[in-house]
Amino acid sequence: MKGLVIKSTGSFATVRTEKGNILDCRLKGVFRKDGGLRTTNPVAVGDRVEITSAGNGETPWITEIEDRDNYLIRKSINLSKEAHVLAANIDRAYVVVTLHSPRTSMGFIDRVLLTCEAYHISAAIVINKADLYQENEKDMDLLAAYIDVYETAGYPVMLVSAASGMNLDLLKNDMTGKICLFTGHSGSGKSSLVNRICPGLELKTAGISDAHNKGRHTTTFAELHEVFDNTYIIDTPGVKEFGVIDMDKTEIRDYFREFPEYAANCKFSNCMHVNEPQ
Ligand code: GDP
Repeated sequence: MKGLVIKSTGSFATVRTEKGNILDCRLKGVFRKDGGLRTTNPVAVGDRVEITSAGNGETPWITEIEDRDNYLIRKSINLSKEAHVLAANIDRAYVVVTLHSPRTSMGFIDRVLLTCEAYHISAAIVINKADLYQENEKDMDLLAAYIDVYETAGYPVMLVSAASGMNLDLLKNDMTGKICLFTGHSGSGKSSLVNRICPGLELKTAGISDAHNKGRHTTTFAELHEVFDNTYIIDTPGVKEFGVIDMDKTEIRDYFREFPEYAANCKFSNCMHVNEPQ
């Protein structure tokens, strides 16, 4: 039987089967093929797995994990070189952005987008609190600049308002059928958006870059919430460190999506594209 891991607590995992049944499964003798990654947890939320049941009421086993499309990791706190997989097979990261209250800088957005590229996670920009911007000419100019920059770079950009409901149907459509992650500054409206789109869901945390709330979360187990048909939101403590990936400064350019088109014309093979001529 095939299923999706929606909760993982170490030696147990909760799996939603293709038929929609929710089963607590045991992990045993699970081996993956991608030898390079040493992890503290063999199974993470978002993993697609094969499970086998003895059928006599015994706890089913997870016997196989499918190759992951992508995954988010956190380095383990102990000194081993092992990593902890926070979540796998993330279909979309929504970067929730606000022009003010609080201000989200382009630098912050870029860092999150570069990290998404490095993790092979498809990102979209959600500019929230549209209701606040309409009256103010300066806001409207800034808004146009944000939309232009990120659309030109190839990212979907949605202008929404959790307060007025503006364009939430677009966001909901985009989310449909995906495993979704919401990131953005504390106060940008992640919980408001999710709660408005998915009434009844109470997220413990929706943040992955929640600078102001570090260490606030008490749960240690990752969870995927099915919010509507085949659509999931990741609610995972620790995902807030998402913004901090080790990247060599010479690598950074490779993660700017709009860049390769120009890179080919550069005179210098080791160009940092900061101070060099042309
Ligand atoms: P989170 O920390 O990212 O989860 O942000 P919250 O969802 O808790 O929202 C932070 C604050 O912004 C709350 O006071 C919300 O009521 C407010 N807020 C969220 N979305 C909007 C919006 O679209 N417009 C306005 N005006 N306020 C919003």
